[in-house]
Amino acid sequence: MTTHTTRMLIIGSGPAGLSAAIYGARAMMEPIVVQGLQPGGQLTITTDVENYPGFKDVIQGPWLMQEMQAQAEHVGTRMMWDTIVSVELDQGSPFRAIGDSGDVYEGETLVIATGAQAKWLGVPGEMELGGKGVSACATCDGFFYRGKKVAVIGGGNTAVEEALYLTNHSDDVTLIHRRGELRAEKILQERLFANPKIAVLWNKAVERFAGDPLGGGLTHLELRDTVTGALSEFATQGAFVAIGHAPATELFQGKLAMDANGYLAVEPGTPKTAIPGVFACGDVMDHTYRQAVTAAGTGCMAALDAERFLATLEFARQEAAE
Ligand code: FAD
Ligand code: NAP
Repeated sequence: MTTHTTRMLIIGSGPAGLSAAIYGARAMMEPIVVQGLQPGGQLTITTDVENYPGFKDVIQGPWLMQEMQAQAEHVGTRMMWDTIVSVELDQGSPFRAIGDSGDVYEGETLVIATGAQAKWLGVPGEMELGGKGVSACATCDGFFYRGKKVAVIGGGNTAVEEALYLTNHSDDVTLIHRRGELRAEKILQERLFANPKIAVLWNKAVERFAGDPLGGGLTHLELRDTVTGALSEFATQGAFVAIGHAPATELFQGKLAMDANGYLAVEPGTPKTAIPGVFACGDVMDHTYRQAVTAAGTGCMAALDAERFLATLEFARQEAAE
C-alpha cells in the first residue's frame, strides 16, 4: 500500500477532470488524477465530435481525450490507474480517498469529476449499433441525422427536449413511449404536441435495434405494444435513447449534499460543494448541459477555486504560526 499526496486530488479523467488537471498543474499544484474504469470518460465511447471548439474538421472522441491527457501530463499531472472505492471528507483538508488497489490518495483539495452515464434500454442491437444510428445524446449527434427520419425513446423531460431539439435537423421526429402518458412537465408536453414535425407512438417498448453495424447502420426498431403485446416494426435511421442519466455519486452518499436525482449540489454558479476545499465539476454536478465543453469549463473553474482555497488556507496557517 502506497500513500500518494498532492495539493489537488482529482477523481475522474473525462474532460472535467483533465481540464482541472491542466489548470492545476500550471498553478504548480502537482495534481493527481485517478482515472477510474473509463479513462478519458464518456467521449471515449463515441466517434465523431463536431462541436468541441478549436477543430474545423471532425475529430474523434477517443483522440480528443488522448490529447487532453497528453496535455495534462505534459504540464505535470500524475495519472493513476486506479478507481476510488471510498472517501473521507469529514475531517477537512487534507481529504483522503482509498483506491481499489489499496493505495491511499491524500489531497489538500479534492476535485470530483466522476461524470454521469446515460441509461440504456439493454435490448439487443443497442450497443452494437451505438454510433451507427443509436445514440443517447441528440445535442451531440443530432446533426449527423439531418434530413432523416429519427426516433426518441422515453417520456420524461429529457426525451421531450431531445425530440424538440431534433426538429432543428429533421422534419420527421417520432417520440416512442412505453406508456399512454408522458412524465415530462406540461409546458414541454404542450410544445411537443404543438410541433407539426413530431409524432408520438404511445404504449410501445423497443425490443430490438435492427440493422447492420458494419454497413448502413440502424434500419428499424422492433416494437412491442405494451397493452396488446402486438409486435411491429418502425423504420428509422437514427434512434435516441432518452430514459435518463445516472450521475456517478455513490461514493459520496451521506457525505455530500445531492439533488433528488443524485447530482452533487454546488453553490450556484460555482463548483464549490458545502465542504470547503471539495469541488465538483462536469456531468456529476450538471444535469442540464452535459457537454464536453461545459465539463471542461467547470473543470477549469474547480482548479481556479482550489488554488484560491489553498492560498487562503496557507495565509491562515502563516498567520497562526506568527
Ligand atoms: P465523464 O466524461 O463521464 O468522465 C467521468 C470520469 O470519472 C471517467 O474517467 C471515469 O472513469 C471516472 N470515474 C467515475 N467514477 C470513478 C471512481 N470511483 N474513481 C475514479 N474515477 C472515476 N459532448 C459534447 O460536447 N460533444 C459530443 O459530440 C458528445 N458526444 C457524446 C457521445 C456519447 C455517446 C456520450 C455518452 C456523450 C457525449 N457527449 C458529448 C457528452 C460528453 O461526453 C460529456 O458531457 C462529458 O464527457 C462529461 O465529462 P466529465 O468529465 O464530467 O465526465
Ligand atoms: P425521467 O424523468 O426519469 O424520465 C425517464 C423516462 O424514460 C420516463 O418517461 C420513463 O418511463 C422512461 N423510461 C425509463 N426506463 C425506461 C425503459 N427501460 N424503457 C422505456 N422507457 C423507460 O428522466 P429524465 O427525463 O432524464 O429527467 C431526469 C430529471 O431531470 C427529472 O427530474 C427531470 O425533470 C429533470 N430534467 C429537467 C429538464 C428541464 O427542466 N428542462 C430537462 C431534462 C431533465 P415512465 O414514464 O413510464 O417511467
